[in-house]
Amino acid sequence: MESLKVVACVDAEGPVEETPEVRASLISKPCFGSWAEIEGDLALFNAHRHSFHDSEGGPAKLSWFIADNVGWVDNPRRRATGFGAVWDRIMNHVQPQDSVGWHHHALPPSRRALDSSTTWTYGLPLAEEVLCRRLLKYGWFPSTFRAGGAIMRPDLSAWLDMFIPIDYTWHPPVGGPGEAMDWRDPTAYTDWADGARRLVRTCELRSTTYRMGEKDIEFAWEMGMPLAFAIHDRRSVYDDITYARGLIQDVLGDRPWRWANAVEAAEGPVAPVKWEITQQKGVYYFTADQPIFGQPFLAVVHRGVYWRDCPTQEGVRRWAYNYRYHAPLGSVKIHAWPRL
Ligand SMILES: [Zn+2]
Repeated sequence: MESLKVVACVDAEGPVEETPEVRASLISKPCFGSWAEIEGDLALFNAHRHSFHDSEGGPAKLSWFIADNVGWVDNPRRRATGFGAVWDRIMNHVQPQDSVGWHHHALPPSRRALDSSTTWTYGLPLAEEVLCRRLLKYGWFPSTFRAGGAIMRPDLSAWLDMFIPIDYTWHPPVGGPGEAMDWRDPTAYTDWADGARRLVRTCELRSTTYRMGEKDIEFAWEMGMPLAFAIHDRRSVYDDITYARGLIQDVLGDRPWRWANAVEAAEGPVAPVKWEITQQKGVYYFTADQPIFGQPFLAVVHRGVYWRDCPTQEGVRRWAYNYRYHAPLGSVKIHAWPRL
């Protein structure tokens, strides 16, 4: 009997302040309103990872999905805004057995912090700027992704197929026609086809819209798929993992299960492709050491402006980019994951 792989996804967006009026209007549990509360909870959780062991004795693993809160014209819940504001805090609490991915809320056309968006395209330059900054500053690029609000639409799906091979946005049906989290036919089964991005069904553990239950756990067991669930850093990770573990143990009984991070569970790439980079007459040539997933992500910064640009393909594994600004190569970085 093969162990059920369990993936604890943590959407990291930092603290959320709630005025008494806001609190009175909410049916969810209170949020952490400060970094001190979040970091205290994470320190407590990290000190007790072994007590959350799986049926094989392994310690708890978390799969982080770290957001940048950027682009809004308002900030009523006093979120930690700015590029890297959440990243720089959360990365201190990530353990070696964890994975780190990207969480992004598409910018709504109203640009208001409390609104959600069903268009990815409207805020695409900002989303790409977040990734350009992470690649240029930290040398980091996500292999795993979760969409804000678990809102999946065709424009986001097509974009992910170019750059990010593992997607934990697929949620059991919530919301009616036109409002559903996922635009796809909810009865469609998604296979892990060669070369395509991998979708891992992920449900909210206990939010106002959904609670993971016995049927979700049995579904994953019967399908031989990972069991992934989603929580937030603004609520107690310690409490949520305690609850999730109890639920999983109750439902599985004697059946084996083990913690896996989001990359392991999806059998995702462990390292990006390596590039050989040469320069000829102002043109950079990038040659990958293996076939890539989708397209290369080429991040550029010039005079404080960040954008993703498009190289031309010169061969199966070879691309060229004419960098007109004659800046050093550190102003341009290329990234790709291996083909799945
Ligand atoms: Zn979110």
